[in-house]
Amino acid sequence: MNKDTIVAISTALGQGAISIVRLSGDEAIQITSKVFKGKDLSKVPTHTVHYGHIFHNDKVIDEVLVTVFKNPRSFTTEDIVEINCHGGVFVANKILQALLIEGARAANPGEFTERAFLNGRIDLTQAEAVMDIIEAKSDLSLSLANKGLDGDIYRLIADLRSELLNTIAHIEVNIDYPEYDDVIELSNTIIKPEIEKLIVKINKLLEKASYGKVIKDGVKTAIIGRPNVGKSSLLNALLREDKAIVTEIQGTTRDTVEGSVNIGGIILNLVDTAGIRKSTDIVESIGIQKAKAAIEEAELILFVLDNSQTLTEEDKQLLELTSNKKRIVIVNKTDINKEVLHNYENRVSVSALNKTGITELEELIRSMFLTGEINITDQTYISNARHIAKLTEAMGALHESILAINDDLPIDMAEIDLKNAWQLLGEIIGDTSSTSLLDELFSKFCLGK
Ligand code: GDP
Repeated sequence: MNKDTIVAISTALGQGAISIVRLSGDEAIQITSKVFKGKDLSKVPTHTVHYGHIFHNDKVIDEVLVTVFKNPRSFTTEDIVEINCHGGVFVANKILQALLIEGARAANPGEFTERAFLNGRIDLTQAEAVMDIIEAKSDLSLSLANKGLDGDIYRLIADLRSELLNTIAHIEVNIDYPEYDDVIELSNTIIKPEIEKLIVKINKLLEKASYGKVIKDGVKTAIIGRPNVGKSSLLNALLREDKAIVTEIQGTTRDTVEGSVNIGGIILNLVDTAGIRKSTDIVESIGIQKAKAAIEEAELILFVLDNSQTLTEEDKQLLELTSNKKRIVIVNKTDINKEVLHNYENRVSVSALNKTGITELEELIRSMFLTGEINITDQTYISNARHIAKLTEAMGALHESILAINDDLPIDMAEIDLKNAWQLLGEIIGDTSSTSLLDELFSKFCLGK
């Protein structure tokens, strides 16, 4: 197990009311005691907070509150000390330095969570959920992350693996005791339906995973349209605040607005908002070139047209460029009574100026990415790209096993694929050791016999 004691400033480095310097390891309390004047920390009960001062080289560094968590009842299962000091970069660093001098080691990024994982306090999906909570930008993504931290994904994968293990156990029984059953009959009446049931389950998870991914990561969105159709105004209407500067004169909007907009719980991550910026000194072809890159990157195109004008060549060119993307054609400036017929799929009429049609636009965006009710409480959504990739691979392995059975190959061929799927699912939760496969298999046999 890890013997050294790690230390880091756990709060964002910058000026604030409070910073937290955190230590974890066998000597966390001992090292802190060397620089802390107050109660004797070696004698205090776990989960208690103590007032005192951090001293080093006989100089006071700060007035602090120290919280002690004793193993195993801590995030890492090791002794943890959290020092709440004043939130200055200099003072927090001074405390960190003092602790390093007294024997702690600077923690690597994510090392506290890594220790929690290595010490068996959380599984890999829960470790990842910690990051998801930190990165959450909407209520939905926060709920999703909290369920992950609660072990939701872990339980789901563990259940799938346990079912798979049952199937593998059936095969093992047959290999060890060939007289137990007719192989072909066993494969077709027991093994195959079990695998098919698993495939259906994983398929459903993968179908819903696209929602999970949208909730977690948001949608890369580009607002496209030629100058002056109202892209910045639309962005302002969506942001509900004046972040992008809107000007009357073409070519004077210089503000680049990058950012995220929360649309009915979905985060739109705006890519290349420089495209929104008007610039007369860029020749048109470069403008289109830039738009092309943004279009390529985007998962959603908000294509803005001007209701008061007929389509120009540039409009047509951009429309063509975006024709095979997920796209909403937004006909803006509908407050100007000059309706020019723009007939497109996923078309919304808005007035960015009067903020009409914005709710309809938001609803359309939501319905394009999250169809039906999203029920975070009762359902599990896989949202992590790594989990999705492993699940997809595991499903591939299950399909392979079905092919082997269909081809009447020896059943241990199918078993190899099933063990592979079991392994891949294990990688999701960070449990891949083949000894645990054998251990669990063994216990299954005992149960079954
Ligand atoms: P961009 O170049 O596409 O970003 O366009 P802007 O958002 O800067 O808007 C260009 C001009 O159109 C500005 O004068 C806006 O006030 C005006 N505009 C934008 N939206 C509307 C709208 O819905 N109705 C009207 N009448 N004018 C608008």
